[in-house]
Amino acid sequence: MLISGIQPFTVLDYPEKVSCIVFTPGCNFRCGYCHNPEFVLPEKIAALRSNFIAEEAFFNFLDQRGELLDGVVVTGGEPTLMPDLENFIKKIKSRGLLVKLDSNGNRPGVLRRLIENKLLDYIAMDIKTSMPRYQSLVGKLASENQLVESMRIIHESGLPYEFRTTLVKEVHTPNVIEEMCDLLKGKKMLYLQGFRPETTLSPAFETYSSFTAEETEAIAEKFRKFVDKVYIR
Ligand code: SF4
Repeated sequence: MLISGIQPFTVLDYPEKVSCIVFTPGCNFRCGYCHNPEFVLPEKIAALRSNFIAEEAFFNFLDQRGELLDGVVVTGGEPTLMPDLENFIKKIKSRGLLVKLDSNGNRPGVLRRLIENKLLDYIAMDIKTSMPRYQSLVGKLASENQLVESMRIIHESGLPYEFRTTLVKEVHTPNVIEEMCDLLKGKKMLYLQGFRPETTLSPAFETYSSFTAEETEAIAEKFRKFVDKVYIR
């Protein structure tokens, strides 16, 4: 599998677990606020290709350091675009490690197969905005049917999961938050994270702003009426 980067150690990305992170290149979305354009835009990916990490080197690392880890976070880009993702995860699981998958949720068939084959232990799916506004935020490839299907599959999987939203003040207006509350009604867990107007995929987003801590808490309170647990990162 193509590996664009590895973070050898984190206690932040897989709740309550010590893990490493594997980054895969390429994404089917183009979120303007994306902080990893080098893992998304084909021309930037091509420029970094010589720095990609061989799969063998990653598994050598796991064989040497795996006993210090509880699990592996597979993230992107968008990992479900990798044709050999399933085999890659099987190799991780064969080493007795947990696997958390981060996904934008646009490929429910891949998620379903991984869940059915018991290859995932935790799933995080981004909920970028309300469904009617998705394409204008992330691009034409976003499919409402597929995103809603992924939400359903994840919710009914019986696995621990989180939905998560990066809040951007100019994007997540009160109307949008209301529509998102409806979308997330009855779900178990939502993490809200603040937008950082630093390096962004679309330069326009560098002028956008984040909510204050008080504003974010007020938004969390709105979601808490609909979602079992809502946390702020
Ligand atoms: S889905 Fe994630 S990786 Fe893809 S463009 Fe959006 S923020 Fe970036």
